[in-house]
This record gives sequence, C-alpha cells and structure tokens, in this order.
Amino acid sequence: MNILLIGGGGREHALAWKLAQSPLLDTLFAAPGNPGIAAHATLVPLDATDHAAVVAFCAEKTIGLVVIGPEAPLVDGLADSLRTAGVPVFGPSKAAAQLEGSKGFTKDLCARAGIPTAGYLRVTDRDTAVRALNGTFGLPVVIKADGLAAGKGVTVAMTRDEAMAAIDDLFATPGAEAVIEEFLSGEEASLFVLTDGTHLMPFGSAQDHKRVGEGDTGPNTGGMGAYSPARVLTPDLERQAIDTIVRPTVETMAAEGTPFVGVLYAGLMLTAQGPKLIEYNARFGDPETQVLMLRFEGDLAALMLATAQGRLDEAPAPVFAADPALTVVVAARGYPGTPAAGGAIAGIDAAEATGATVFQAGTRLFNTGLSGDTLVASGGRVLAVTARGASVAAAQAAAYRAAALLDFPDGFCRRDIGWREVARERG
Ligand code: ATP
Repeated sequence: MNILLIGGGGREHALAWKLAQSPLLDTLFAAPGNPGIAAHATLVPLDATDHAAVVAFCAEKTIGLVVIGPEAPLVDGLADSLRTAGVPVFGPSKAAAQLEGSKGFTKDLCARAGIPTAGYLRVTDRDTAVRALNGTFGLPVVIKADGLAAGKGVTVAMTRDEAMAAIDDLFATPGAEAVIEEFLSGEEASLFVLTDGTHLMPFGSAQDHKRVGEGDTGPNTGGMGAYSPARVLTPDLERQAIDTIVRPTVETMAAEGTPFVGVLYAGLMLTAQGPKLIEYNARFGDPETQVLMLRFEGDLAALMLATAQGRLDEAPAPVFAADPALTVVVAARGYPGTPAAGGAIAGIDAAEATGATVFQAGTRLFNTGLSGDTLVASGGRVLAVTARGASVAAAQAAAYRAAALLDFPDGFCRRDIGWREVARERG
C-alpha cells in the first residue's frame, strides 16, 4: 500500500519512522516532509490547502491511506475532500475537527453529553465578559480565545486586573469570541484514543512540558518535551476518563451526524473529583507522538487503515513497551519569540549512536555551494531527542546524554524534562 503523510514537523517524523516499519507499506510519500522524514519517505511539494491537487496526487500514486498530521488541514476540511474522492483517511472531517478548532463547540458538547469539564460561559462581547467576571466567576479564572491559537490564546488569570487585561486584549480584535472558564486544579495528563467513529481504542498516555523555562516557568510553547506513559493517569483513572469523557464524546459526535475518525487527544485535569476535560485535540500531539511511537510495538499503518475504514474492532489491541520514553525538544535560540534561523546542525549520527532517536522538526537542507548540503534550523522547535529507559530517570539520562552530542550552537533545551515523574520515582 502507498501512504501519503501530510505535515513536516517532529510529530510527522515520528509517524513516518513508525509507518516505514509497516509490512503493509510499499511507498511512503510526505508533503511537505522535512530532511528527517526524507530518510523514510519520498518528499512531494504538494500544497495541503489545494485539495484538488492532493486528491489528484492520490489517484496518480494509488494512495491507499492518507495520514493527516497537523490540525490546520483538518480544520480546513482536507479529510472531507479525500473521503468524497474515495480515499481512506486517518483524520477527522472538518465538522468533527471542531472538537479542536472551536473551544465553544467542545464546551457545548460537554454540556449536552454531561461530560465533566470546567464550568464555562461563551461570550461574544466585552461587556458580557466583564459582567461574568464580576459575577459568576471567582479567581483564578481562565480566559480563552475561541478558535485555533497554537496554545497562545489562553490566560490563566490570578487577579481581576489580569483577567480584565486578557478580556480587553481579546476583544480588541473585531468579531472575537471567548470562553471564560472556572479554574481547575490538579495535574494534567494527555490521553490518546483512536476511534473509527464507532469503536474506541486507547492508544497510550503522556505528559508534556508547555513552558519554555525550567520548573515549568516562562511563556508557553508548542511543547519543550514529554514522556510516556503518564503514570498519574492510573489504569483506573484512564477507564474513568474513557467512560465519562471520551466514549460519550464519540457517541455524541456519531449521533449528531459528525462521527470523529482519527485520534482524539484528550487533555485532562486530574482533579480531586476525577478526570475533567480541559481540551481536545483532533490529532496526535507534538512532541507526545515522539514518545508514543518510541514505545508502540505494533503496525501503525494497519491500525490507521483500520481506523480509516471503520474496522477498529477487528484490530489487535496496541502493545506498548513497558519502558518509559522521554523526549527533549531542542529549540532555536529566541523561541518562542522569533527563533534564530539558519543555525548549522551536526552530530545527529553521534547522538543516535547512543541508542536514542533524533526526530527532526524545524530543519532544512541548505546548499553551501562548495561543501554541499548542510542541515540548518528553520523553525522554533528544531529537534526532539528521544530515548527509552527502564525508568523515566533512565530515559531522561539517555535523552540528555544523546542531546549533549549534538553540535547545534544556536540550540537550547530545558534541562528538567520529566522532573515530576523523576521526583516521584525517587520517592
Ligand atoms: P494547547 O493546544 O497548546 O494545549 P490551547 O490553546 O488549546 O492550548 P488549552 O489546552 O485549553 O488551550 O489550555 C492551555 C493550558 O491552560 C492547559 O494546558 C492548562 O495548563 C491551562 N488551562 C486551560 N484551562 C484550564 C482550566 N479550566 N483550569 C486550569 N487550567 C487550565
């Protein structure tokens, strides 16, 4: 079978790496891919926003499965265009991707289906928001822009002034919509569940580090590291989350005519009252995919195809290595502000010789003329150095040992990825 993978980040490198191991695979194509993905796939300069071109490519190359990595093409309806053309797709329709694309949509669905989540109010004007802040909500309070904001549209306000500033900022944009939420306290964990619209298959857990600075401080990023499994999400809590959150979501989506096909990534808060939903993503996480793929021992292509074709009930339950995996993101200086572009990267072979796997995200080849192609940084998050170990502490040590062998003077990483779990392991 020929597979087309849409995307070009660290998540897609990890997916390509795993898809390439499938006995089902003939040729893997990736659009646009990146230099790391090129080791496993033929890169094609397809524009994912040009649905007709993607459909035509699938016909030309007899693509048997399209895997859509990032959220933007999902929210843009690429899966719908492909399904209409009869191409099996791993990824939800535009309507189902609203679970990620619209926080208001998801909160309303939770209310309809009785799914545990933070109390909320959707607001479309500043005055209603201010009245709600003065009335309904205590402090801290959470203010969110509706729509995709790459993690940058959320303010957890500790004071009324901060909350007012967030509201003013948000409604400075004409047509803005917001969700105001009750603050939930607890530890966060990510749960991944494959679904073909009807059947569910839990697909591992992870915890990530969103903040740029050590000790989880500083501005938010796309994610500076992660580890899997998230042991705080015990088997019992995972069952509760599936039964009270994920299954009612899948059933409600199907009942309302917008079945969700792909991976549901549930961002959970493990509160004293049990797991509550913070948010859904309609695709795999980045960098959580890097750690999930390092632990997943099955045939990813077969599982994704079964998901796309509504046969998930026939697929074998996924097997994950018991050993935890941990990934350290190496970002370009300046990230999450303006990252330094063009910094030369070497030492990936040396890092991988330790047994670690280096997934590439924001990289590209730069032709220096005389000396040929050099790998350089071309984005904020550049590499994800990923390793397994007998414990999270061992996986952490292995990942940092490998990262130390990279020669990327413009890069930096957090030194404490996995700290919570390492502390728990030490007791
Ligand atoms: P991303 O997709 O990057 O995680 P996002 O913009 O979709 O971010 P959310 O996931 O909804 O936004 O929120 C981002 C973070 O804000 C959460 O990971 C959590 O730490 C915090 N947060 C969100 N909602 C709440 C809440 N109700 N109570 C406490 N913290 C919250």
